[in-house]
Amino acid sequence: MTRLQGTGVVSGIAIGELYYYEKEAAGEHKRAFSGAAEEEHRFNEAVSQLDIELIALKDAALASVGSQGVSLFEAYRMILQDLLFLEEVHTLIYRDSMCAEDAVLEAGRSLAATLLPMEDPYLKQRAEDVKAVAQRLFEKLVGDHGVETLAQAQGILAAQNLTPGEMMHITKENISAIVLENAAENSHIAILAGLMDIPMIVGVRPELDPKMNGLTAVADAERGALILSPTEEILSQMEIRREQLAETKKLLQQYTDRETITQDGKRVRIEANISGLVDLDGALQYNVDGVGLFRTEFLFLGRKEAPSEEQQYRIYRKVAERMGSRPVVIRVMDLGADKMPDYLKTAEEENPAMGLRGIRFCLEHKGLLRAQLSAILRAAVYGRISILLPMVVSLSEVLQVRELLEDVKRQLTVQGEPCRMVPVGVMIETPAAALISDTLAQNVDFFSIGTNDLTQYTTSMDRQNAKLKKYMNPYHPAVFRLIRMTVDNARKENIPVSICGELAADTTLCPYFLSIGVTALSVSPTRVLPLRKTICELRVDDFTDRNDQWKEYFS
Ligand code: PEP
Ligand code: MG
Repeated sequence: MTRLQGTGVVSGIAIGELYYYEKEAAGEHKRAFSGAAEEEHRFNEAVSQLDIELIALKDAALASVGSQGVSLFEAYRMILQDLLFLEEVHTLIYRDSMCAEDAVLEAGRSLAATLLPMEDPYLKQRAEDVKAVAQRLFEKLVGDHGVETLAQAQGILAAQNLTPGEMMHITKENISAIVLENAAENSHIAILAGLMDIPMIVGVRPELDPKMNGLTAVADAERGALILSPTEEILSQMEIRREQLAETKKLLQQYTDRETITQDGKRVRIEANISGLVDLDGALQYNVDGVGLFRTEFLFLGRKEAPSEEQQYRIYRKVAERMGSRPVVIRVMDLGADKMPDYLKTAEEENPAMGLRGIRFCLEHKGLLRAQLSAILRAAVYGRISILLPMVVSLSEVLQVRELLEDVKRQLTVQGEPCRMVPVGVMIETPAAALISDTLAQNVDFFSIGTNDLTQYTTSMDRQNAKLKKYMNPYHPAVFRLIRMTVDNARKENIPVSICGELAADTTLCPYFLSIGVTALSVSPTRVLPLRKTICELRVDDFTDRNDQWKEYFS
């Protein structure tokens, strides 16, 4: 028996024969440079071929996983049109006399390298996308390698990595689980596997080996383990766990299209936290009541320059349109500290977590803020958009943004550009904001409590520092007092108050949050179903704010 360990990214347990998928090696490629014009022509041909392939894959995704799978291939098509990428290839061909094959790989590597140093998993994923597109272009240039074998594969599929295109050759009927060496936790492959409901483990070590082909295997995505040639005893234990898990999963799936209503008929709002168009798919899949937090700073990261107003407008408009009548809360760029692109970095800060960040950064970069506000007001014509301000500590910050909004609106109107004023809310994620939430509530349209930063700043413990884990109390009474104070002040002014930090997804806390008057919980799409299930099993009586019941959270 051999055990390989990785990370389970789509839950489930599968038992079966291992099928090792070995991609046909592209072969030692040694093509000579045949002149810049010819190489560019070959590159352009490969781009057109890949674009056609991606359109076909988009249709296949629509058929197999619904509209949720489509934007993945759209994102790939956008990389194919990315000016930075295209210019880099052009330069490598013309300046460095590289053949098209080398140029696409090199351009992919260099663009991905600008994204990889970022800590954020979202940007790491963008880097993976760029590399996947470059690799696929390379394959087009050296001659395509068939993926037909995948369509015939059965059992537990193991491979170094898979592309979304290859995923489209797989069906849940044939493949009971996927185990990969090189995919990342938030990779598109993982998202696709989630949509197709195929258990998946990524990053397994030690590495996979073609000799494993044909072995009996257990893929335990709950524990991220791949067990090869299991003993009879392990096998029967796993069979029992597989049954139990399938039951739980089936139970959760029943909540996909349901409304979130308690046993006695109270409707509760669950919204989604998203970082871009890709996450929207998951949100729509689980039928959320709106986007409670769109972290737009991710649109600014991992690039060489800020996205233009026009680029932002297109994205905000698309989110608004896809959400239809459901509200979309767009948080203005929460840049600074760990989320600071190189092109905006000025002087090093001694203590960036308390430095020029969030709304302070926005107010220092009025040009960028104006462009973002303008994009938002224009997109607001197409849906129910509102604006959320991060890291607020004073009323004056809110008033400055309101003034700017009026000015931007005036300017757009003069230009004859369709636009609409939007409600303005603040993140309550600093102790200062919570403590003046009575004043803030009189001047804004809604609150959204960011428990991640509220906990960090209230306890003075860096949320990124793993070494502090043993000192951290996610249920610190000080944080809960500030939450309570904020919600009370919101209720006094009759404005909605949601929770969008990680605590919103804590199913043990939702009766408490609902009891004190929180109006919505905004969570990442994968956390929607367990939360909905919990709420649907509650009665309003369970919400009652009995301090006794919640004592453990206040001590
Ligand atoms: C928070 O601080 O709780 C929050 C939702 O914002 P972020 O996690 O993006 O800082
Ligand atoms: Mg925050």
